[in-house]
This record gives sequence, structure tokens and C-alpha cells, in this order.
Amino acid sequence: MLHKSLLFTPGPLSTSLTVKQSMLKDMGSRDHEFIDAVKDIRNGLLHLAKVSKEDGYESVIIQGSGTFAVESVISSVVGEKNKLLVLANGAYGERIAKMAGMHKLNYEVLRFDEDTVVTPEATAQFLQQHPDISHVAGIHSETTTGLFNPIEAIGAVCKKYGKVFIVDAMSSFGGVAMDMKAMQIDFLVSSSNKCIEGVPGFAFALCRRTELEKAKGQARSLSLDLFDQWAGLEASGQFRFTPPTLSLMAFRQAMRELEEEGGIPARERRYKTNKQVLDEGMEALGFKPYLKPEIQGHIISSFLYPADPAFNFERFYDKLNKRGFIIYPGKLSKANAFRIGNIGQIFPDDVKALLAGIKEVLEEENVSM
Ligand SMILES: *Cc1c(COP(=O)(O)O)cnc(C)c1O
Repeated sequence: MLHKSLLFTPGPLSTSLTVKQSMLKDMGSRDHEFIDAVKDIRNGLLHLAKVSKEDGYESVIIQGSGTFAVESVISSVVGEKNKLLVLANGAYGERIAKMAGMHKLNYEVLRFDEDTVVTPEATAQFLQQHPDISHVAGIHSETTTGLFNPIEAIGAVCKKYGKVFIVDAMSSFGGVAMDMKAMQIDFLVSSSNKCIEGVPGFAFALCRRTELEKAKGQARSLSLDLFDQWAGLEASGQFRFTPPTLSLMAFRQAMRELEEEGGIPARERRYKTNKQVLDEGMEALGFKPYLKPEIQGHIISSFLYPADPAFNFERFYDKLNKRGFIIYPGKLSKANAFRIGNIGQIFPDDVKALLAGIKEVLEEENVSM
């Protein structure tokens, strides 16, 4: 039995010992120490997105997983007289469409195949044909496959047509350099347990203040009211409802460790190195990537099942699990693939150890590649 499990998943991720240790002290939600940490986190997040309050941006923390913050934004900022366009090429785009339906928003969905990116051209054409659209929502790193949608080019289209742009950058923020202003993003959503390498418990929305203010009084639920959540944090530095205190303390430590690593550029380099080691090793073992390399991001990679019927994903997964390597099943509608994440406290030597484990399991299972 291994003491350590390495998570090669899109989150929750492996975290450092020091991040975990920062959760050992009980913390009241009204302690000065905690309130200071929340303030540091909110400002630090804006800094990571290369914006600030002075530039007109605000940082709102929302309890729950990443989906809660996406839903908070979608259900708060799209007003009754507005219309949302959802750009979907995977499960996370579809999830936003589902939210829009449940909250009875006016919305349209522009769909692309799972193995292709959302194009700025098709987005522009759709916006020309539907001038009543006011908001556009898209996914940066579509974790279903690991592809990167061209968010900057789509942002430019949104700007050209005067649309509010909402981006789910859940699995990429912190692991990909992003300038929210340059990318014309009005609302950027991510969570505590992805590339900033904290533990689960909360998510956050970075918001252009002028758009956030328009959300006043139009939320469709109490707990996910983005404007009220922000107003509460601004007024007292406190949350309206019980915050995940220890997860926030861990996150502040994780942000310090990100800084010590050399900030987002250094983390992006580490993840890219992980991906390169993984790609080369998987190719040498005979695995084929699901996506074309030019659209595959460096956050999570999809690989097709080997053609040999001796390959059984459940057994492959379990045997890797017993060796301490947690990989991720696929979520594709049309192809059999599994995923391996390059993010979290994972280093090139860990990827090499995973590759050695995969080789062993394939041999044990007599899978010919
Ligand atoms: C992880 C993730 C989410 C949020 O998932 P939760 O399970 O709610 O944390 C949303 N979008 C993308 C692209 C993700 O990778």
C-alpha cells in the first residue's frame, strides 16, 4: 500500500504538504486573521488576472465547487431582458446551457464538435444573425477533452459586437498566463482546487465592476446572488453564509507557493514540461492522442483506448490506482478515451513514474499496442 497517491486528474489535485498543514488551526469566520486572509486572496486573484480594483475589476468568492460560481454568474448577470449565447464543444459548455435552461434565461447554444475548437468566425456570424444577444459564455480549457478554445479571439469578437463575455477558465486559470483586460473578459470563473493548487471548497468570479453592478437585484437564487455576495464582502470583509474557512487558509498558502515557484509563467512551464514528458512517453508506449496537437492544451490530455480488446479501462484504472496513480476516465460522447492531467503538485519525475506504471499494467494485462 502506497502512502502517497498522485492525482493525474483535472481536480481536485495533488497539493503540497504545507498547503494541507495550513488547515490544522481552527479558524472562526470573524477572526481578524481569517478576514485578512480573505482580503489577501481577493486582491491576489485580481493580480493573477493582471487587473486591479483601480482598473475597475472585483473579486467575488463563492462557497461550493466551481459549478456554483459559474451558476452564480450566469443566473445573476443575465437579466430578464438579456439573452445569453453559450458556446459549447464539450460537457462544461453543455453544463452552462443546462443552467440557462433551469433558470429560464433567454438563451441560444452554438455547438461545435468535441474535437474542434469554437471559432471566432462562427461566433461573429451567429452574433450578426442574432443581434438580441447581450452576453456570451464560453469555456477556455474544455476539460472534456483538454482542448483550448481561442478565448482571446472570441473576446475580440464580443468586444466588436458589444457583448458581455463570461469565461469558464476553471481548469486553466493559474496554469496559463491570462490578462483579463487584454482578453476582453468581463467575468472570469475558476476554483480553489485547480491550477492554484488549493483544496476544494470554493470558487471565485473576477468581474468587471460596471457589469457586476448591473446584476443588483436580478439574481434567481439567494445563495448564488453574485451582487449580494460581493456587496457583503465589500461591506464587512465577511461572507453572508458560512465560509469554508480552512479551505481559504489553504488557498492563501497555495497562492504564496505559486508566487515562490515564480508565478503563473513558471507554473505554466512546469505543466508544459509534464505534458511533454507524458506525450513522449505515451507515444513510445503506442497510445494515440484523441485531439490534434495544435488544439490540445497543456492542462489535461486525452488518449484513445488501445485497439486490442484485451484493454479494459476499469482494470487499467484500478491497477494504476493500486500503484498510487489516479487517472481520469473519459467523458466523450463519440469516442473511447481516458484523460491524464498534467496539473497540481506533479513534477516530471512523477509523470515518468506514472508512465512506468502504465507500461507495467499493459504488460500484466497482455495488451498489445
Ligand atoms: C472543474 C471544472 C468545472 C467545475 O467543476 P466542479 O466539479 O463544479 O468543481 C467547470 N468547468 C471546467 C472547464 C472544469 O474543468
